[in-house]
Amino acid sequence: MKYLLGTFIILALPCLMATGETNEHRYEAGGSVYVCQSPGAKRFHCARSCRGLNNCKHTITQVSQAKAEGIGLTPCKMCY
Ligand SMILES: [Zn+2]
Repeated sequence: MKYLLGTFIILALPCLMATGETNEHRYEAGGSVYVCQSPGAKRFHCARSCRGLNNCKHTITQVSQAKAEGIGLTPCKMCY
């Protein structure tokens, strides 16, 4: 019984910690994000150097993540 419990804790802990960390990073960075001012843009990016912004022919602006989500943008799959 002791052995089983130990195994469970060892298996479950890193998993729980990893999940918590991912979420924190995602929303802690929620300060500011980068968006392409193209009318077709649907994503916001965590970094100006993101590959997803390479094709942007318009101005890239820095806005708060809340604002980006407010106008219907979703996180870029390459940086989030
Ligand atoms: Zn991106």
